[in-house]
Amino acid sequence: MLSYRHAFHAGNHADVLKHWLYSLVLDYFNQKDKPYWVIDTHAGAGLYQLDSAVANKTAEYVDGIQRLQQSQPAEIFDSYLQAVAAAAKGQKNLYPGSPCIASHFLNAADKLRLFELHPADAALLEQQFSQQKRQVSIQQKDGFEGIKACLPPPTKRGIVLIDPPYEVKDDYARVVDCIKDSLKRFATGTYLIWYPRLQRPEPQQMIDKLRSLNTDYLHVTLDVQQPSADGFGMYGSGMWVINPPWTLRQSVEPHLSWLANTLAQDAGAQAACEGQQR
Ligand code: SAM
Repeated sequence: MLSYRHAFHAGNHADVLKHWLYSLVLDYFNQKDKPYWVIDTHAGAGLYQLDSAVANKTAEYVDGIQRLQQSQPAEIFDSYLQAVAAAAKGQKNLYPGSPCIASHFLNAADKLRLFELHPADAALLEQQFSQQKRQVSIQQKDGFEGIKACLPPPTKRGIVLIDPPYEVKDDYARVVDCIKDSLKRFATGTYLIWYPRLQRPEPQQMIDKLRSLNTDYLHVTLDVQQPSADGFGMYGSGMWVINPPWTLRQSVEPHLSWLANTLAQDAGAQAACEGQQR
């Protein structure tokens, strides 16, 4: 089933949380002068037109990136906002997906490996990166399977983003299986897993299983509203980061309340983080 299209959601509160943390990890990797690989198992289309009919059907970006851009964020948001501006070439109506965010941070020797199953989005990625064929590879295949051939990366430094649509319940279990297998191949990689906060058991079950792996991790959640009375809908999202940069928690924690207030849709907005680092 491939009905999910990220274009409907580009730049929303969940993208802000995910791409902010992703940018901080990429920025951290750039502090060392050693090449690394970035593997994005569910890449999406790469760049989104915010003034398109699709994006404006629900206009989720208005309460996401647009609010951030119109506020006065602390310096810790600079690298993310610079990545957004650079990928959009200064145009306010463009928003980068994870492939373009990553590409902004890459140095000449770094590599980006993208997996995207949807033929239309894979074609858009091909177009987007047609001038960077030596650095960026795009495969129209299952990212949970494709990642196996990428690990461990020859550079022995790597970032993995796992960001499935979770439209099928299977995705929750597949994330856990993928992480277990990936850690066997590449135990020291930094893995970022995005998930939706919903009133159903699967997200929490997935988090419990990730926690039981007993790795170093940072878990950040951002709720923008109260869970709905009818039990449906996404009220926030979370990021589970395995082997996070040691600076990540101290960098983000002081700014989470501000972010929740800035992106709040009602009084239920809140953000939190917890983790383990040995
Ligand atoms: N990571 C993107 C970003 O942050 O801009 C958004 C990705 S979107 C949430 C999920 C994408 O995964 C969709 O474009 C969907 O077509 C694709 N997809 C779904 N199942 C997949 C699979 N098994 N392997 C690779 N891509 C898949």
